[in-house]
Amino acid sequence: MYGGWRYHHPMTDAAIVSAESRLLIDGTFRDAADGATFGTHNPATGELLADVARAGREDVDAAVAAARGAFEGAWARTSPAKRARALNRLAQLLDERADELAILESRNNGKPRWQAVAEIKTAVATLELFAGAAQHLYGRSHVVNPSVLAYTLREPVGVCAAIIPWNYPLMMAAWKLAPALAAGNTVVLKPASATPLTALALGGLGLEAGIPAGVLNVVPGPGAEVGEALAGHPGVDKVAFTGETATGRRIAAVAADTLKRVSLELGGKSPNVVFADADLDAAMVGSLWAIYYSAGQSCEARSRLLVQDEAYERFAAAFTEKAAALRIGDPLADDTQVGSLISRAHASRVLGYVESAVDEGAELLTGGPVDGSLPDGLDAEAFVRPTVIGGVSNEMRIAQEEIFGPVVTIQRFGDEADAVRWANDVRYGLAATVWTGDGARGHRVAQRIRSGAVGINTPFVAFPGIPFGGFKESGYGREQALEALDLYTETKAVLVGTGPKAINPLGV
Ligand code: NDP
Repeated sequence: MYGGWRYHHPMTDAAIVSAESRLLIDGTFRDAADGATFGTHNPATGELLADVARAGREDVDAAVAAARGAFEGAWARTSPAKRARALNRLAQLLDERADELAILESRNNGKPRWQAVAEIKTAVATLELFAGAAQHLYGRSHVVNPSVLAYTLREPVGVCAAIIPWNYPLMMAAWKLAPALAAGNTVVLKPASATPLTALALGGLGLEAGIPAGVLNVVPGPGAEVGEALAGHPGVDKVAFTGETATGRRIAAVAADTLKRVSLELGGKSPNVVFADADLDAAMVGSLWAIYYSAGQSCEARSRLLVQDEAYERFAAAFTEKAAALRIGDPLADDTQVGSLISRAHASRVLGYVESAVDEGAELLTGGPVDGSLPDGLDAEAFVRPTVIGGVSNEMRIAQEEIFGPVVTIQRFGDEADAVRWANDVRYGLAATVWTGDGARGHRVAQRIRSGAVGINTPFVAFPGIPFGGFKESGYGREQALEALDLYTETKAVLVGTGPKAINPLGV
């Protein structure tokens, strides 16, 4: 069992989860070499949850050395079946503790507990998916000519640094670890500074699951120090990153010095296109979920609603009314639909976008700051009401920049060509949704939208087993499906002489 501090439920005072707050290096939880710590908080209340060990350069070196040792020790040569068993055991432990870990996730992130449960279940499914895939990691074979047989091996890349954001802390960790470990790599995981707790808990469960010491190391600490040290570290072979586009650009530049393999899952400004021939009720409830889930702090949030002229008035009015009625509140309460944002500072940044939109001439249809109606103990300054902004044109900042909060713009379009043009008129290309009653149109528009995933009449764009990743400045590489194994393997060609005679091209 992982040790460390215990969290008590505020209502019952029962200890409901035990979580680690130290670094996990080489199979042991330990303090930072220099003893440094940083506070991690519950953003919904401001409560200090724990003082977490803050990794420094020495700890990064130790974690990379441990990962290298474990890679060259046995893990890379462990049988795929054994790696699959360890991943399946980890999945099972995560599943058994999903409820308690969801409370920890909810308190560290501010998202509703039920959403954290769903994300942990997705993490379980991801681990199971790659446990299976580990045993189907095939190369190819080819008879080049009667004298040469060639085949390819899929070999692990080596030591992988996984640098992840705060919006889906445990799920993002699983998206990175599962394919990396399945393919025989070892990992140094750097969680976001705002949400280190469930990543550390996952590290502890990994040990319980029998993942050998050094295979999975977890080093919380500031991105500009710990993340950048990993991205430039000569002992790291690959960096897998999820986060902001600007950070991804920096990581790719730092990693270029040592020509590391890099995969980047970055930001988005994803369109949600509603044609007048759609089932408008289904489009409305799906579109509410697509933007307000996780308080809009999702890379794939469909933050630009494009609605066809004939349906615009009815759709905009009904959508705005439903958005205004969503229940904001205590992330631990079962009926909360929208929790807090990750911090006061982020909420204020999101509200700054809303103000700038109004300054640019757009219209605030609903939303903005909360009005003091939150239950006692919650920090109103960390919350933002579900917000809808009308009167938007595509050049406005609000229609171009990623806001990463519960804010949607709503624009009208005339015909299909306009819808496609506006859908694509951003620098991102992560996801999109198309709502239409015309089947052919759904597929046609899906083909024309430049993004890594498109939902037709469904708000869902990510499932374990389905490739997920971006076009354009949303990054490169695909996670969550077999394509992810390409990011974590090198292809080696082996050529074998099979002819009856010596190969003697020089005629010597
Ligand atoms: P950031 O890019 O700020 O941070 C992500 C991670 O990178 C954190 O662990 C952070 O550490 C670290 N980091 C920060 N600066 C550096 C650096 N110079 N070198 C190395 N690592 C660094 O993103 P956010 O945490 O703010 O996450 C939100 C962003 O993530 C959004 O833009 C969102 O769209 C994107 N995202 C994309 C997804 C996708 O799949 N495409 C999925 C989820 C989110 P620290 O926390 O210490 O700053």
